[in-house]
Amino acid sequence: MKYYDKLIFELSQNGRCGCSLPDNGFGETSCTELPTALQRAQAPELPQVSEPDVVRHYTNLSSMNFGVDTGFYPLGSCTMKYNPKINEEIAALPGFTSVHPLQPLSTVMGCVQVYKELSDYLCSITGMSAFTLNPFAGAHGELTGLMLMKHYHLLHGDVSRRKVIVPDSAHGTNPASAAVCGFEVVQVKSRPDGRVDVEDLKPLLDETVAGMMMTNPNTLGLFETGIREIAQLVHDCGGLLYYDGANLNPLIGVVRPGDMGFDILHLNLHKSFSTPHGGGGPGAGPVGISEKLKGSLPQPDFYCGEQEFSMGRISGFQGNFGVILRALAYILMLGRENVKLLGSYATLSANYIKVCLKDCYELPIDSVCKHEFVFDGLKDKSNEVTTLDVAKRLLDYGFHAPTIYFPLLFHQSLMIEPTETESRQTLDEFIKVMRTIAEEAATSPDMVKSAPHNTPVRRPDETQAARHPILKA
Ligand SMILES: *Cc1c(COP(=O)(O)O)cnc(C)c1O
Repeated sequence: MKYYDKLIFELSQNGRCGCSLPDNGFGETSCTELPTALQRAQAPELPQVSEPDVVRHYTNLSSMNFGVDTGFYPLGSCTMKYNPKINEEIAALPGFTSVHPLQPLSTVMGCVQVYKELSDYLCSITGMSAFTLNPFAGAHGELTGLMLMKHYHLLHGDVSRRKVIVPDSAHGTNPASAAVCGFEVVQVKSRPDGRVDVEDLKPLLDETVAGMMMTNPNTLGLFETGIREIAQLVHDCGGLLYYDGANLNPLIGVVRPGDMGFDILHLNLHKSFSTPHGGGGPGAGPVGISEKLKGSLPQPDFYCGEQEFSMGRISGFQGNFGVILRALAYILMLGRENVKLLGSYATLSANYIKVCLKDCYELPIDSVCKHEFVFDGLKDKSNEVTTLDVAKRLLDYGFHAPTIYFPLLFHQSLMIEPTETESRQTLDEFIKVMRTIAEEAATSPDMVKSAPHNTPVRRPDETQAARHPILKA
């Protein structure tokens, strides 16, 4: 064990201190003014270390982690693309970081312009007619969108619509958001080719349906070829069509959800439009609406002004401004011509990996995919090397694991999304390593099953780690 791999408590020496404060001139203060119930019986056991010890401790800790800045991160369903550093510089400009949300509007017109420009770009990329940038995450956008859906029906005096239809391949947040919004969730099945089963959908559609949530391409990375018919059917029964736009990446510059007939959508700026979002934040989930829902966006809204039929308030102020800035910087940095290439490159990268690996990994749905695709584990299952083992072994080779055991449609799901930001060389290296692991699984399965071998943390007991996490030494 290296000296600085020790816990900071083990480095502690009584009386050592990392800083020195000037004498306060008041002498020792006593705690006697605090009620005894609030006083400590003993001094807290804080580590007593020097400044270099603190710096080395945290610097070493930070390098134990894996991030998109340290390696390829092919997480399916979650678009972990590289975040250009110019975004960070723009978001750190003092003119932006020092504004306060309660400042008079006239003093923050630059920020208002940022909101306006980003909303306009999002409208033209998605084909929607207006956006709110208030929601703080994808799931928060979903909730906002569903509240808009509910609000729309209530405005039309339609009180019987309590159901929301969700495909069985949907991201888990879809049924969760619908339930949180008070809807009854009804599942529609997928066909063997992975698309929504329109025949299964038809009997579900009646006057109790508020709408249907979809993502296109769906969670298997497949384009829903029946989307026009589905939109027609949902609209014919009086429902609205909701688009989960966390999967917008492959569509950018190619087709627009607004043109497919979607009425409400959310985007994940922290996915499709870059912003580091490992570990659960920060995010931004703007919601776009079609002409039908005009005037119902949440308040406050800087540039759309007073909304005639506003659904109300869903956040204190105007969303996560830092993420909004990064998204605008990303779009402007690429420019119109390059933004149009995003979707095509994301699609090309995914298909390239899929084709190069499908002889050693099981490909349950073999058709042209969009930005991501799903393997059902290794093709050769004789040594019982699982998807979890493959994922762990990848870490030994310096790649982050793809999404595993999701979607739930297959037993050994291994879901890969390379994004448009990776070079051909990186993709080739990943393919080479995936092939090596398949070979190892055949020749030395125990080695794969006991991986990872060279990461700071080996293989924790997943069940114990989830149920009884040890958060301190
Ligand atoms: C990531 C994701 C979400 C949820 O977004 P959060 O920002 O994590 O709340 C919803 N749907 C899909 C398809 C996603 O990939």
